[in-house]
Amino acid sequence: MSELIEKLQTEHDLTDTELLTFLTEPQPEEQLFAAADAERRRYYGDAVYLRGLIEFTNYCKNNCYYCGIRAGNPHAERYRLTDEQILACCKEGYALGYRTFVLQGGEDPYYTDEKICALVAAIAKQHPDCRITLSIGEKPRESYQRYYDAGARRYLLRHETASPEHYRMLHPESMSLENRKRCLLDLKAIGYQVGSGFMIGSPYQTPEYLLADIRFLQDLQPAMIGVGPYITHKETPFADMPSGDLHFSLKIIAMLRLLFPKALIPATTAFGSMHPQGRELALKAGGNVMMPNLSPTAVRKLYDLYENKICTGEEAAQCRGCLEQRIKSAGYRIVSDVGDSLVK
Ligand code: SAH
Repeated sequence: MSELIEKLQTEHDLTDTELLTFLTEPQPEEQLFAAADAERRRYYGDAVYLRGLIEFTNYCKNNCYYCGIRAGNPHAERYRLTDEQILACCKEGYALGYRTFVLQGGEDPYYTDEKICALVAAIAKQHPDCRITLSIGEKPRESYQRYYDAGARRYLLRHETASPEHYRMLHPESMSLENRKRCLLDLKAIGYQVGSGFMIGSPYQTPEYLLADIRFLQDLQPAMIGVGPYITHKETPFADMPSGDLHFSLKIIAMLRLLFPKALIPATTAFGSMHPQGRELALKAGGNVMMPNLSPTAVRKLYDLYENKICTGEEAAQCRGCLEQRIKSAGYRIVSDVGDSLVK
């Protein structure tokens, strides 16, 4: 047994030097994934929680260098779903067994706080036994408080990178790591279950930057940690940068499971887009959440964060059937409840 894997499993931490060694030197994959799987089963058994993802707008005022729906991409065909369409997605999702709805979008100024609150309140009224998650970027604390008061209980905001230097390489001047962190702290203070995370293999990422990500997450203790391979999009300034590596990304999932045994860790769509069994592999490496798309089929291709994004053709019901098979084949079981994190 590799000593580092053993120590990770028993102590759920390593020194900086050990973590850098773990990241840079090859690790026995089978052993690593088995250790991660044992940790996930210790707290969550074979449960996989589902979140119905509704990508409700691809308008965005930001210009993140890696993202296909950045404001500066004139070829992105923009759309917004109406409240009626969003409520219909939730209704369909509810019938399929979803008990969490994630509203994700670009930072779209059309959606004023009033509009978001009205939408959240309408979903809460229609589905009082469900959790509502928002993932709509950086806002003032007052806005986050208003969404919470309207009924939102979870918020996904990846920190993207915890190094100010690396943050600067991935984002334009108008954005800052400081504000991103401020948002995450505000969300936690208000009482949200917070999800953070980063892309694996994003341009210029180094083991030292990953170490900073780990230390940041240890301070934040988020309910959910969302990571996935970076995938190049040709209509961005990073068009010539390589995508992240699948096996390295799986190694990161397993490492995160060992560092954060109680966290929710999604097998993200980016894993599925890199490899036909990418999400199953991510589950076996320690993941325990899946976020299938509930958006209307007509707009799915347009939420074009990166190339060859999967599940852009399937109806929600098809998606549910497909997932059930995939999760079962990986050795796990879908649980149809709100699926709160054990991280408190
Ligand atoms: N506007 C929201 C939602 C962003 S999209 C926000 O700021 O939180 C959700 C996530 O997709 C991002 O946080 C980013 O980590 C990821 N993403 C964006 N472009 C990507 C790419 N090219 N490859 C892989 N993941 C990407």
